[in-house]
Amino acid sequence: MHLYLHIPFCKQACHYCDFHFSTNLSYKERMVKAIGREIALKSNYLGEKKLETLYFGGGSPSILSNSELESLFRAIREVYTVDNLKEVTLEANPDDVTPERLDFWYSLGINRISLGIQTFNEVFLKFMNRAHSSSEALKALELILDKGFETSSVDLIYAKTGFHLDEKRQAEILRKDIEILRPFGLQHISAYNLTIEEDTVFGRWAAKEKLAAIPDDYAVEQYKIVTGELAAMGFEQYEISNFARNQKYAVHNTSYWSGDEYLGVGPSAHSYNGESRQWNVAHNHRYMEGVESGSPEFETEVLTSFEKVNDYLLTGLRTIWGVSLNKVSRIEPNLPAGFRDTLEKLKSQQLLKQKGDFIFIPQEVRILTDRIVEELFIIMD
Ligand code: SF4
Repeated sequence: MHLYLHIPFCKQACHYCDFHFSTNLSYKERMVKAIGREIALKSNYLGEKKLETLYFGGGSPSILSNSELESLFRAIREVYTVDNLKEVTLEANPDDVTPERLDFWYSLGINRISLGIQTFNEVFLKFMNRAHSSSEALKALELILDKGFETSSVDLIYAKTGFHLDEKRQAEILRKDIEILRPFGLQHISAYNLTIEEDTVFGRWAAKEKLAAIPDDYAVEQYKIVTGELAAMGFEQYEISNFARNQKYAVHNTSYWSGDEYLGVGPSAHSYNGESRQWNVAHNHRYMEGVESGSPEFETEVLTSFEKVNDYLLTGLRTIWGVSLNKVSRIEPNLPAGFRDTLEKLKSQQLLKQKGDFIFIPQEVRILTDRIVEELFIIMD
């Protein structure tokens, strides 16, 4: 089984980010206790007690002190067997990485760091209100790989906005970001297209027309640079935003894309048990009060078989493996005739390919993934 822990704190708010977090750290310890308690309260959510993957996300899990992190591991070990953990990931910001912290994380069993670099360009880092500098990012990466976190990953952001730079200059900056990573011999990189979300500083600037929208063709151009440069470095684009060498795929995230069941704890965390989705309240104080009183606050939505098929298509078709048609039929044996027709149409347009039981989107047209998936979605009455 897979466990996700949402740590809802950050040092400062990045201007593009709409994840759930607070920059008020005064009650961090109380939050950690609450998350530990929720782990115990939800111990029977999936029935299964053998953990396969553990993922500390957020927010910024690297903001936790050693004793806070240790207490979360204690809470996990009280409920779950951790002997066969395949992957334990901690998302970290470069400015939190020190040799001492890495030693401690390693001693806890963390074997993968997901490092939020985003870019090495100082101007962009400041404009996005990131808390770290380019030199801190380089230092952190060096320390992580020296310590032996070999399957660690780096996050990059492309198609950035807000500058009156021409596209040629933007392309140079992106190529340089990737070039800087080359000598590190990383096994995994995640690259995300910047999106401007309403409830963020960028969203508010955009609403007042103080921030230029990102033109589609510019985003496409930047996507092509990312996929082209990383392919040339031997990376396989195994999911639309994720690239791995030597099949060092992210195990935890791949489980989401395969439709596996998982438990998420912490404010705003989502869970899935094969029948329903559940999401915790995205409010730190309401979350803590709920857990402390023994009644965590969350909402649940029981999924229809059509919704399950759609979820599986949405995530599975973003990967190189695609989706199994047998699995789709097992979820919903009476698929509407329109589904098969659309499938055949997309195949004849070379937008989908089939290998055995699996359909997948070929590399050349992956940029059209959202459109293709939308066409396949089963229309629900
Ligand atoms: S991008 Fe990461 S570090 Fe920045 S505010 Fe969002 S969660 Fe925090």
